[in-house]
Amino acid sequence: MAHDFNNVLTVILGYAEELLHNLRPQDPMYVDVQEILNAGNRASSLTRQLLTFSRKQIIQPQLMSMNDVINNLYKMLMRLIGEDVEFELNLDDNLPPVMADVGQIEQVVMNLVINAREAMPMGGNLKIRTFSFHADQDFCLRHPMIESGKYVVLKITDTGTGMTKEIKEHIFEPFFTTKERGHGTGLGLPTVYGIIRQANGHIHVDTAPGKGASFVIMIPAASGESSAGPITISDKENSGKSELILIVEDDPSISDLAAKMIQKMGYRICLADSADRAMVMIEDEGLRPNLVITDVVMPGLSGVELAAILRFKHPSIKIMLMSGYTESVIAKHGEVDPETPFLQKPFSRSELSDKIKQALEY
Ligand code: ADP
Ligand code: MG
Repeated sequence: MAHDFNNVLTVILGYAEELLHNLRPQDPMYVDVQEILNAGNRASSLTRQLLTFSRKQIIQPQLMSMNDVINNLYKMLMRLIGEDVEFELNLDDNLPPVMADVGQIEQVVMNLVINAREAMPMGGNLKIRTFSFHADQDFCLRHPMIESGKYVVLKITDTGTGMTKEIKEHIFEPFFTTKERGHGTGLGLPTVYGIIRQANGHIHVDTAPGKGASFVIMIPAASGESSAGPITISDKENSGKSELILIVEDDPSISDLAAKMIQKMGYRICLADSADRAMVMIEDEGLRPNLVITDVVMPGLSGVELAAILRFKHPSIKIMLMSGYTESVIAKHGEVDPETPFLQKPFSRSELSDKIKQALEY
């Protein structure tokens, strides 16, 4: 399911990105298209949420700014929160970056905000704060689970129903929910917990019945510059020097989109709708692409098998795998060389461009 959904999202995001690329920023439609991209990216983070939960997701930790994540979600959050909840944002300008997966941190913020919203059916006040915190020896003596050092703290506070001690004890358990059937999944907080632990962070809840709730998240600060930022499309992506790229993909909506994007980056393109067809083109028809970008799961020969054959018979042809499936599923289709660049669907133009550059250099 997640795989099929990722294919559809790749197409939606890809065409929206193409559209954005062709619009001038002052065009009245520019902002609308950006909103389509934002919503599409959220949808893709939701599929990732399902995958994180089943621990089948490929995560990409990078140096990122907590503030950027929140700022990029701002419009979406405002819409989620609605007009009867007062929203206060207090972001510390001097926040160090953290090492985490941007999509995952977005999930954390979204889940906590949705819970807060749902705890305030009659309206209320929601505060999001970021600040940095130094856990010194004293602090660590009182909180033995926490290592000393610098942390980025995210605090989300609501004035909703709050929780009893009994409820609070269970909130991180999968499928624990106090919501009506059809309203709660009980997966929000377990997902948050999993993500925060993956980032070596901690989560703490302050709450009492009728007194609202405050979720405090601490993630170790990383040194270095943040690399996360708003969606920007730069011309440096047009870096192709007419290298020939063979796209092997059985879903024509994906191969058409990828072809369109890749051509604009300055590469030449040819298409094969199966790995078997790609083998005929290379072995019998003498096609010599610089790079083969192949889907993994296809009828007939799989992309992993194609990669293995090519690496053996034509070591000069570079290979890149792409898939909406996760690592564990892909591993069933043959052993994947960990050095082979891998593109997770849905992908954006800049991810595609970066991965192609990486693959051609490798
Ligand atoms: P769900 O939202 O689907 O019920 P979660 O894992 O997100 O699942 O939350 C589990 C439970 O924790 C909720 O059903 C609710 O009882 C409680 N909870 C979570 N956040 C809050 C909050 N901000 N205020 C009060 N209760 C909360
Ligand atoms: Mg929830």
